[in-house]
Amino acid sequence: MRYAETGFNLEIDLTRGNIEKVATDPRDTELYLGGLGTNAKILWDRVRPEVDAFSPENLLIFSAGLLCGTPAVGCNRTIVSTISPQTKLMAFSMMGGFFAPELKYAGYDKVILRGKSPDLVYLWINNDKVEIRDASHLKGKGSIETAEAIRKELKEPKAQVAAIGKAGENRVFYASIEQGRSSASRGGIGAVMGDKGVKAIVVRGTKDIHVAQPLEYMELCNEVMEYIQFRNENPIPGVMPILAGLGSPQEMKVHDEKWHTENFMWGNSRTRIKDFWTDEIAREWMETLDKARTRLISCYNCPMTCGATISMPGLPTYMMKCFTKLTYTMGAFSDLDFGLRIAQKATEYGLDGFSAPQVMAFALELLEEGILHKDDFPGMPEDNEGRFYYLLDMIVNREGIGDVLAEGTYWAAKKIGKGAEDHAHNNIKKHEQLPLKLSMLNPIYFLMYCTGEKMNITQIEGQFPQAPYPKKEHREKFCEDWFHVPDEKFKQYFIDWEPRGENSMPFYPTVDMCCDIVDWQEKMHYIDDALGQCAGLSSFPLKPPYHIHNYPKFISAGAGIDMDEESLSQSAKRYRTLVRAINIRRGMRRKDERPPEDHWKKRFPELEKELLDTYYKFKGWNNDGIPTKESLHDLGLDYVADEFLKRGILTDGEDSPGEETLAEKKTH
Ligand code: SF4
Repeated sequence: MRYAETGFNLEIDLTRGNIEKVATDPRDTELYLGGLGTNAKILWDRVRPEVDAFSPENLLIFSAGLLCGTPAVGCNRTIVSTISPQTKLMAFSMMGGFFAPELKYAGYDKVILRGKSPDLVYLWINNDKVEIRDASHLKGKGSIETAEAIRKELKEPKAQVAAIGKAGENRVFYASIEQGRSSASRGGIGAVMGDKGVKAIVVRGTKDIHVAQPLEYMELCNEVMEYIQFRNENPIPGVMPILAGLGSPQEMKVHDEKWHTENFMWGNSRTRIKDFWTDEIAREWMETLDKARTRLISCYNCPMTCGATISMPGLPTYMMKCFTKLTYTMGAFSDLDFGLRIAQKATEYGLDGFSAPQVMAFALELLEEGILHKDDFPGMPEDNEGRFYYLLDMIVNREGIGDVLAEGTYWAAKKIGKGAEDHAHNNIKKHEQLPLKLSMLNPIYFLMYCTGEKMNITQIEGQFPQAPYPKKEHREKFCEDWFHVPDEKFKQYFIDWEPRGENSMPFYPTVDMCCDIVDWQEKMHYIDDALGQCAGLSSFPLKPPYHIHNYPKFISAGAGIDMDEESLSQSAKRYRTLVRAINIRRGMRRKDERPPEDHWKKRFPELEKELLDTYYKFKGWNNDGIPTKESLHDLGLDYVADEFLKRGILTDGEDSPGEETLAEKKTH
């Protein structure tokens, strides 16, 4: 018997209209867990590096995490993996909500789409009955509108629907997949779904999921619930409100936006408005949010209510959580009322709320700089809000300049030329990042920005405080109940971290400490993404209920796989390395691993080089960021090493870390 997982994937060939239920190999679960881990294995095995995002040979994988569908609190993530049209690398975007557990209850761990449907379709997965159905009547409809129409059509009010809007249909490179209470936004995965001709995946499941040791498992779940309650009653003192508690940053509850509005950049990620947050604005924004927010809501099996339903006068209700509350507002130099109104339209269109406003602000900056001209924007209103609505429509419909902007700032700048590249300044690996610009280099974040392959910095951080506390006694106090650390040394790292002086940034934490800290933070995120656990209860907040000490017990009692901290760390390292291997095989190298040039004012090139050199070595990668033959062997990934050797990515003499990068060698 398979525990926690169903042991079956649904394979759908859209070109042929073929549907297959395929039994999976339990050994793969032992090696790569599930979710992101097994997605990476499938992409490595089946998608050659020559395959483009919009090729029929690209796969689009919807995976429930390994523990989704079990009673584990907050375990509800669907991990959607494919090749991104924007980065050309592996995209793995997560969505919460209810889709993943429903898929498990229908009897599947993953839905794997290949090929392309000649006509727009949706998939109806109703336990064992799976159909590809005509969706021509849904063409051009919004994502929420689509979900409602399908539920009505099928007379299945409980069906879970993951749908794209017009942005996905028109292959906008930052199109999202929307799913009621959540969305998978990063990497342009909605564009791949649109390219495959799939408007929605609809699922209803009523079967059971078995766990290996039910009593032990329920005890673990109860401990987690008790700890959540304790943490909710005891927020962490001394940190900003959004970091003090659990869950995704509680933007739908928080009224005080002083920190975001005065520290994050406005417009095209360039303008800081230091005295923005006045009493009058605070009052106005509080009234706006209070009126708009109809209900606080949670994902499946979670008490945290991180999201809210938003109803703006005259507009249909939609759901919002997290920082998208402010991205349109700040991109357009406007107010919260505007941000909440335009987000309704953008959600129906199905767009990544981080990238879309930045692309629009970038276009307006090009207009101001004379790189684009009035003629490029025929009929555009004069006011900023009107211009944002205009650009939103142009991009989603791929009309005129919108067709170029639909490919994100990196590719649009290349097409526009005339110096436009200098204005696409906030990208990592060709993908727009949060508009945060700081002063002093933070060595921990430098490494995370450079080497993160999730394309979203906020989903790599967590576990270790973002900055030192002002006084040693505060830091010591913080460490008192910090049992989450994998090793006691992390406490000392934090206690000795001073805001000023010798033990302050950028030279403290030291390079070696930074490697340990980044590795721990990243590991926790990768574990979450394989298990399907929401980062909001695990890798993202400080002192979360799930951590490296109880996760092995969850896997052992839940999935029946014997696991301890060491073997879990080794598994996570295995599929984390496999994600890197996929990207390396697709051409990613050290030259791609850099934060936006203007992310920090004070940069330290020698230290940055040392950080990257040391971290690569620490991870078992050579100086170009390529996993070495030896490290691949230690992880049981000899098949990756063989492929690297065959393709000349590694050569027998070059697989250990050297003094210079392969790219540098080639220029000699
Ligand atoms: S913590 Fe928040 S985002 Fe995470 S599962 Fe719970 S409600 Fe959803």
